[in-house]
Amino acid sequence: MTETASILAVGSELLGTTRLDTNSLFLTGELEAIGVRVVRKACVVDGWDELLAELRFALERAPLLVVTGGLGPTEDDRTKEAVAHLLGRRLLRDEEILATLKERFRKRGFEMPAVNAKQADVIEGAFVLSNRRGTAPGYVVEDGGRTIVLLPGVPHEMKALIVEAVLPRLTGGAPREGLHRRVLKVVGLGESMVEQLVKPVYEAHREHDVTILSAAPGEVQLHFAARGGCAEAGRTLDVLEAAFRAALGGAFFGRDEETLEGVVGRLLREAGQTLALAESCTGGMIAARLTDVAGSSDVFPGGVVAYANEAKVALLGVSPESIARWGAVSEQVAREMAAGARRRFGASAGLAVTGVAGPSGGTPEKPVGTVHLALDAEAGIRHERLTLAGDRAMIRRWTTSAALGLVRAWLTEGGGAK
Ligand code: AMP
Ligand code: MG
Repeated sequence: MTETASILAVGSELLGTTRLDTNSLFLTGELEAIGVRVVRKACVVDGWDELLAELRFALERAPLLVVTGGLGPTEDDRTKEAVAHLLGRRLLRDEEILATLKERFRKRGFEMPAVNAKQADVIEGAFVLSNRRGTAPGYVVEDGGRTIVLLPGVPHEMKALIVEAVLPRLTGGAPREGLHRRVLKVVGLGESMVEQLVKPVYEAHREHDVTILSAAPGEVQLHFAARGGCAEAGRTLDVLEAAFRAALGGAFFGRDEETLEGVVGRLLREAGQTLALAESCTGGMIAARLTDVAGSSDVFPGGVVAYANEAKVALLGVSPESIARWGAVSEQVAREMAAGARRRFGASAGLAVTGVAGPSGGTPEKPVGTVHLALDAEAGIRHERLTLAGDRAMIRRWTTSAALGLVRAWLTEGGGAK
C-alpha cells in the first residue's frame, strides 16, 4: 500500500470568504491511522482548467489522491469528468445506479430531475462506492499504480464512505500501523494553567507530540498521538490519558468528539435530573448549546431569556428591591434568577447567568466581563463570579462554557444524586 497521499478539495465556495475545507482534516486523520502520510493538500475552484491542473500535479506528487466535492448534479460539478479526461477514459451510464437514484427520488414523492442522471455515469473501470446518505456515489479508480478516490463533498457522506468503504479497500482489511490521535477537553482553566498542570506528564512523553490549544473561549484541548496498530496505540493513548486526567482533576470533561453540552446532557440523564435556565447576558446561547444535543428534551424543560430588569421580575420572580440594591449583575440577582427558573419549570435545578458583556455598561466595580453564575438545586445554591477578558462575543461564549462547567461540577461531585 502507498505511504503518501494528496488531498484535493473541490468547490468554489471553499475559496470564498465564508466556507472552510474541513473534509481534509477528517481525511488526514483517517489516512494517518492506516500509516499514510498526507504530503500535500489543496482547494480548487469548480473550473475545468484549474481542476485538471490540480489533479495532474497532485498525482505527480503522491500515488494516492483523495478528492472531495464536485460530484453533484449541476453543471459546475465536474470532478468525475476531469478525472476521466485526464486518464483518457470514457464515462459510462450505469443503469443500476440510475434505477437507485430514481427510486430515491420516488420515495420522497418526486420524479428525478433530468440533471441528476449524470450522477449515474461511471468512469470506465472505476469501482463504485454506493452512497446511502446522498445521491452522489463515490469512486475508486486505479491507474498505472496510482489510486484516485472520489468522494462527495457533503461532510457526513464523505466520512461514511471513507470509513466504511475506502479504508477497508486500501488496507485489504488487514490491520495496519499508523498514527492515532486523541483529544482531551478541559473547561474552566486557561491555556497556561493547563500547561502548568500537565507539564510533568508531557515532559516525560515528548515522543507523543503533546500540544495544548485553546479551542473556544472557556475551553482548552490537549492533543497527543501514538504510533502503532489500532489496539496497541489505543493502549498507549489510554495510559497517557489516565496520567493527564489525574493531573487535570475536575477540569477534564470529555475526549475526541464529546462536547460539553453533550456531557452535561448525559450526566443530567444519568442522575435523573432536569435543568431549567435563566439567561440574561447570553440571550439563549446556553439553551442553544443544550438543545444542540439530540434527546435534550428529557433533561431540559426550558429556559427564560430575561434581559430587561422587568423581565427578571415578571418572569423569574426576582425582587425589584434586590435589583435596586445590588444591581442586575450581582450574586443576589443571579441566585434569585436561578431559583425562579427552577420553580417556574418545576426542574431539579435552575441555572442563571447575568453579566456585563460590553462593550459599554462597565463600571469600576463591575467592569465589562463581570459575570455572575448561580445554580439552584435541592442541595443548595452554588455561585461563581467571573471576570472575563475579550470582546462581547468571547465573553458571551466563555460564559456559556463556564455555566455548563458549573452544572457539570455539581453533577460529578454528587450534588445531582437523587
Ligand atoms: P459538492 O459535493 O461539491 O456538491 O458539495 C456539497 C456541499 O458539501 C457543499 O455545498 C459544501 O457545503 C460541502 N463541502 C464540500 N466540500 C467541502 C469541504 N472540503 N469541507 C467541508 N464541506 C464541504
Ligand atoms: Mg461543489
